[in-house]
Amino acid sequence: MPPKKTAKKKTTKKHSRSVVQRKNTTIPISVFANVMKQIDAAAEKLHIDKSIMDFIKVPRRSTMMNLPVRMDDGSFKMFQAFRVQHSIARGPAKGGIRFHPNVSLDEVQALASWMTWKSAVVNIPFGGGKGGVVCDPTKMSEGELERTMRRYTADMIDLFGPDDDVPAPDVGTGPKTMAWFMDTYSMRENRSIPGVVTGKPINLGGSLGRNEATGRGVMLTTRSAAKHLGLDLATATASVQGFGNVGSISARLLHELGVKFTHVADVTGSITNSKGIDIPKLIKYVEKNKTVLGFPGTKECKPQDVLYAKVDILVPAALENQITEKNAGKVRARIIAEGANGPVTPEADVILAKNNIFVIPDILCNAGGVTVSYFEWVQNRIGYYWTEEEVNQRLEQKMDLAFEDVLKASKDNKTTMRIAAFIVAITRVVDVVKLRGIYS
Ligand code: GLU
Repeated sequence: MPPKKTAKKKTTKKHSRSVVQRKNTTIPISVFANVMKQIDAAAEKLHIDKSIMDFIKVPRRSTMMNLPVRMDDGSFKMFQAFRVQHSIARGPAKGGIRFHPNVSLDEVQALASWMTWKSAVVNIPFGGGKGGVVCDPTKMSEGELERTMRRYTADMIDLFGPDDDVPAPDVGTGPKTMAWFMDTYSMRENRSIPGVVTGKPINLGGSLGRNEATGRGVMLTTRSAAKHLGLDLATATASVQGFGNVGSISARLLHELGVKFTHVADVTGSITNSKGIDIPKLIKYVEKNKTVLGFPGTKECKPQDVLYAKVDILVPAALENQITEKNAGKVRARIIAEGANGPVTPEADVILAKNNIFVIPDILCNAGGVTVSYFEWVQNRIGYYWTEEEVNQRLEQKMDLAFEDVLKASKDNKTTMRIAAFIVAITRVVDVVKLRGIYS
């Protein structure tokens, strides 16, 4: 090839690559900025004093630490870790601890804020908090996870306590992780303190019904939404994005009501069957194979097919920012039941509302988890444990009432369920702040 041509080609290639790179660089959407927008949209309808709004919007305390953890090969690795206490106005800070590679301060602050509003929507005496460790639990051994959790608890121990800040499971953590938290905290005090953390194993003071509480809450609020919209669940169709604790249990409980799931996605891939997927069998299959892919009777589909499926109910039950202004117009479901925290951005909300899609917002839809966490905390404190039936009945009462409160606020203010949920929550938090006064 003549040298001139080669040189020209090289320049063009280099140039186009940098343009492509710039085009492909996704500017991460700040989840904390998203919560701020949601709060502002509700505040517009509320006419609350600006200084009080400023006070309730920002996190009260954010802690960031680097944890040294001994790995199985004897080396030490540093893990960045956070705990954010957004509000303690209505009670102890409450919220899970997330183990995920994408954890950031921005994300944890947003999740902590959502916990404040979530606890207020279901009217339980908690504030909001959240924690996180930047790590990939799928690539760590049980010993490495245990040492990470114990070091996290030990290094941040002064933040926690049954009346101060009460963690729980979130993405990448579960009952076992909470048992290590409880033990590490209790060892320092030299006595058992089960009420310092919720989502524990049953034999360690966990509550019956806690493991499936978030999914049960999703099912209950979806049932209320269907009733409100005149949708018969026995003939309804659905798709679910995420098949961990929340996605799989929501799907199983909705499936029990007759809902036909045509699309399911998990972290490994997506599957479809227009005639319906046998959810209980899929759960067993995933337990064994660690993937939805290859489930008999289904074929693989694209991840976006799950979000854009023409179904009655879409359950996003994975991570934040899944439905944005870029793809909201393609969603064809009638109801979006937010099992995940923050799956829809504020810009997407506007598009969904225009398209008449009924969104059950995260702070209502997935509040079943923290509600039964509250029941667990109560049982730990009184030392008397309820039956699963009692727990489920109390959960149903709380979720049905919260749905009614939010629906009423949405009608009274002629606004979406999301803004209505914030109106209910902010009003409750502001009431308490006014009663207590701001100590300054
Ligand atoms: N991590 C769950 C949530 O986002 C549960 C929090 C809790 O039980 O405290 O709601």
